[in-house]
Amino acid sequence: MSTDIREVVIVGSGPAGYTAAIYASRAQLNPLMYEGSVTAGGALMNTTEVENFPGFIDGIMGPDLMDNMRKQAKRFGTELITDDVVEMDLTGEIKVIKDGSGNVVHARSVILAMGSAYREIGLENEKRLSGRGVSWCATCDGFFFRDQEIAVVGGGDSAVEEATFLTKFASKVVLIHRRDELRASKIMQERAFANPKIEMLWDTEVIDVLGEQKVEALELRNLKTGEVSKRNFTGLFVAIGHIPRSELITSSVTLDKEGYVQVEGRSTRTNLSGVFACGDLVDHTYRQAITAAGSGCQAALDAEKFLSH
Ligand code: NAP
Repeated sequence: MSTDIREVVIVGSGPAGYTAAIYASRAQLNPLMYEGSVTAGGALMNTTEVENFPGFIDGIMGPDLMDNMRKQAKRFGTELITDDVVEMDLTGEIKVIKDGSGNVVHARSVILAMGSAYREIGLENEKRLSGRGVSWCATCDGFFFRDQEIAVVGGGDSAVEEATFLTKFASKVVLIHRRDELRASKIMQERAFANPKIEMLWDTEVIDVLGEQKVEALELRNLKTGEVSKRNFTGLFVAIGHIPRSELITSSVTLDKEGYVQVEGRSTRTNLSGVFACGDLVDHTYRQAITAAGSGCQAALDAEKFLSH
């Protein structure tokens, strides 16, 4: 890695980061990108088929889409580092970025594209049994639940997608949602309702995860009647949305009350000169691969304009 001051450092991969890298490298800004040590590629690495990214008539697997974007960024000269950024000082004219291997990088501009992390229900036993039946990733862990009865919590696209995917392995998937209608898109709902292996459990919340060494059952509460019940499951997949991964920048970059980075109008400019933000880190409304890619493009164009001044 060169010790010169970089024109632009991109923190985080995923559609926003990789698109920013493609544009920045094509603008001859010689970008350096921190992809993350375990999260390289971002949330799409844990999805199956992406059917709504324009240009792929028959859909494309999430990891393949990310791999294509990565290769495209590399082709134009982006320097990729598969490590985490552990500290950033973004306040001065020259930004200072420290990574997990102890390297320190200086840059005139930084594009923040750290994305979002899985939201947890917040139960003590959910954490304790994580990896022992509790999971946030059906594509990673579904295989371990062959012919078993498992639960998925949530009512959005992620929960419905996970539930549908898990029917490949499980004997039954119970989708537990806190309301009596799903938030997921109609096409995904219809697919789930038509799947004989999926059972809907409406107006229900998970209040505890039971089991000593691994998940054995869930304690559930019906939110309309207040009735508490226990039901046996060997797995619990949590798909209740995401939280922005803004923990590294809480003291310097202006965030909204939910922790998303605030940007100026339709731009990707943050409150700090030379610092831009894009993707799920900024967006709590649309959060699609295509909108993240679009905002990555905007961030690179904003950084290019900033650097040219
Ligand atoms: P989401 O749309 O925010 O849905 C989260 C779901 O979890 C909601 O149904 C919510 O219930 C429920 N929930 C939230 N907190 C909860 C809690 N503490 N306990 C129990 N339930 C809770 O999140 P998402 O499904 O991860 O989707 C995120 C974005 O990615 C969306 O824009 C979605 O369209 C997109 N996405 C798209 C695809 C696709 O097109 N293939 C696939 C996956 C995700 P309420 O409904 O009651 O609020």
